[in-house]
Amino acid sequence: MKTDILGVGIDDLTLEESINAGAALLESSGFHYVVTPNPEFILSAKKDEAFRSVLNHADLALPDGIGVVYAAKILGRPLKGRAPGVDFAQGLMDRMAHTGQTLFLLGAKPGVAEKAAENLRQAHPGLQICGTHDGYFKEDGPVIEAIKAAKADVVFVCLGAPKQEFWMAQNGTAAGVKLAVGLGGCLDVFAGNVQRAPEGWQRAGLEWLYRLIKEPSRIGRMAKLPLILVDALSARLGGK
Ligand code: UDP
Repeated sequence: MKTDILGVGIDDLTLEESINAGAALLESSGFHYVVTPNPEFILSAKKDEAFRSVLNHADLALPDGIGVVYAAKILGRPLKGRAPGVDFAQGLMDRMAHTGQTLFLLGAKPGVAEKAAENLRQAHPGLQICGTHDGYFKEDGPVIEAIKAAKADVVFVCLGAPKQEFWMAQNGTAAGVKLAVGLGGCLDVFAGNVQRAPEGWQRAGLEWLYRLIKEPSRIGRMAKLPLILVDALSARLGGK
């Protein structure tokens, strides 16, 4: 049962539970995909029905930002907490390092996925990264073929939203993977090009503020984020 947050279904799972659920999807048959909605996703899904639908058809939808957790609280449907995509990915890679399942990294600027692969192999000894591709391609066909030829079990799709969600839903089966995970800017983090907030900031729910300080150009994008709280409040007051 997903929790409805302003039209987007979110799985109410702790980080550990979400990693278990991801690992279980990887063991089950067929193709599955995971989305990591943050407030920006929910605000755009409100206006974009196709995006909302692709999010709501995901096998797992993780509450990526503190704003989603606050909105849930305001709506009177509190979630257990945040399950950031980047932490989910780290947990899944730990499992995959033991099971021998293979990972393909797709997205970010040329060279970033390769650097991320190098760092991740060191951080998760035994992890099999079977291929990489940058995220600035014109045709899907050759990328799908590359993932298929690499015999990847999992692909991290890091093209930004909503591109990555549409890409997973449309091409995951053809790429022959068991699991696709939409992870936004994670490859830049894994490559060491973008630093995550220190743990104290994360625990305080201030990762967004740290990011804003580091990348002030995001102010335009972030300024509208409090709107999700306004929307949640008006939905609650409106009895929805
Ligand atoms: N990106 C990409 N192809 C595109 C557009 C974006 O590979 O056509 C990458 C971009 O280089 C970045 C990631 O997608 O690595 C998206 O970053 P964003 O900041 O939007 O994601 P967030 O961190 O907010 O999840």
